[in-house]
Amino acid sequence: MTAPADGFAFPGSPAYDEATQVFNLAAPLAPAAAATVCTVDQIRGVLRRAEREDLRVAVHTTGHASATAPPLDRTVLIRTRLDGGVELDSARRIARIPAGTCWGAVVRATAGSGLAAPHGSAATVGVVGYLLRGGLSFYSRQVGLAVNKVRAIELVTADGSVVRTDAGHDPELFWALRGGGGGFGVVTAVEIELFPATRVVTGATFWPAEHAPRLLSIWQRWTLDAPRDVTTSVRILNLPDLPEVPLALRGHPVLCIDGVVLCPAEEDLPTARDHAEELLGPLRAAAVPMLDTWQVADPAAVLDIHLDPASPVPIAGDHMLLDEIGDEGVAEFLRTTGESGSPLILAGLRQLGGACSTAPSDAGALGHLAGRYVYSAAGAPADEAHEAAIADRCAAIRAALSPWDTGRTAPTFVENRRQPQRHLAPDQTRAVHRVRARVDPDGRFRNDVLPHC
Ligand SMILES: Cc1cc2nc3c(=O)[nH]c(=O)nc-3n(C[C@H](O)[C@H](O)[C@H](O)COP(=O)(O)OP(=O)(O)OC[C@H]3O[C@@H](n4cnc5c(N)ncnc54)[C@H](O)[C@@H]3O)c2cc1C
Repeated sequence: MTAPADGFAFPGSPAYDEATQVFNLAAPLAPAAAATVCTVDQIRGVLRRAEREDLRVAVHTTGHASATAPPLDRTVLIRTRLDGGVELDSARRIARIPAGTCWGAVVRATAGSGLAAPHGSAATVGVVGYLLRGGLSFYSRQVGLAVNKVRAIELVTADGSVVRTDAGHDPELFWALRGGGGGFGVVTAVEIELFPATRVVTGATFWPAEHAPRLLSIWQRWTLDAPRDVTTSVRILNLPDLPEVPLALRGHPVLCIDGVVLCPAEEDLPTARDHAEELLGPLRAAAVPMLDTWQVADPAAVLDIHLDPASPVPIAGDHMLLDEIGDEGVAEFLRTTGESGSPLILAGLRQLGGACSTAPSDAGALGHLAGRYVYSAAGAPADEAHEAAIADRCAAIRAALSPWDTGRTAPTFVENRRQPQRHLAPDQTRAVHRVRARVDPDGRFRNDVLPHC
């Protein structure tokens, strides 16, 4: 069956397959119908038909977070691919980004402007889904959660209204959209504020995992009062034997410390180099790296450091937001993640603190992360037995790290719908409900809402 004029496509058609494509191949989506939309009129057409046929509506861009979606029977899934490219206003430091754009396109648009966007580690992640759920970048200890940089959001609500919301236009809706857990409508564009970034000091250093106890302890102590212009992550990697993986890193566990020192202006470069050296000097002295790529670079290089997969893969894993873990937590992390033969490809900690810890006064529902580290682990399940082994290993790590569990989560790192998750306080959840009930009184978008929201 081919897609009719209103864009609806059904299982078995190429248009349905295209609209339901997901990055996470372990979590395919099977809605009753699906539509790829490029214009506001197409969105309105889909909403009208959904109302006539009493279907719910869910929205996605890339399907990076497809494992967080509920079953989509009696639902039409909208895949956003809005027309137009990234518009950059360098003088005002604003970028207008149509829904459907991935961060790689934003980084290309800002290249050479002396400005950077608060993107995450991967070029393939969608701008809208990342921002609406908070967004943690390698700049975030300096500039805060990415969502705090959103200045306006344009959307189509359940009744077909086209709304542009910002601090002066329906500020309640603007507040709820920014981290409130979804279900407010189809976002068609966002405007974000960029920040000065002439250069960065960035890269990744890899060591054999046998050195991890000493190195992780040095890193953890450094994080206690690290400068805000530096944001790093530490990971135990078990990388597959694939041509795109450097030969030295294949087939055995390695420890990787990567990150970014932000250098807003050229005169900040000596300080940025010093801050990188304060971290890397003691680590390099403690054990000889196998590979070490840190260098002064243009901000576009930040998308290359984290070795994220460039094309769709199956992903299964877990996430927790942790308090300060200290030596005991480091030991528990390594006891459960550090050995050969792990079913996981990665287990890591992203460094928080700095501007991630405080919500600005004009923040939305989610403006900060009240923890010291984002723990995440992931494997690429090849079959059911492997999937079960990943789940068992994630459960063991979760148990080992539970003394430091904040009980909160960072929504962009939540791996699936079943795992414990909560990022809003009860009064915030109630306030978000009130806004959702106003803009979507019939609950048309309720399959697009995160579980606890
Ligand atoms: C390889 C990889 C690297 C990652 N790196 C980072 C990182 O560095 N930092 C970080 O914070 N996160 C990171 N993530 C997580 C990622 O940010 C989240 O999965 C995010 O939700 C993905 O957004 P998306 O739009 O691409 O995904 P989708 O699955 O398409 O969308 C996720 C949700 O966003 C909402 N949404 C999407 N588009 C629209 C729209 N147009 N209108 C309304 N709602 C919409 C919907 O609720 C949807 O369910 C990474 C994920 C992967 C797989």
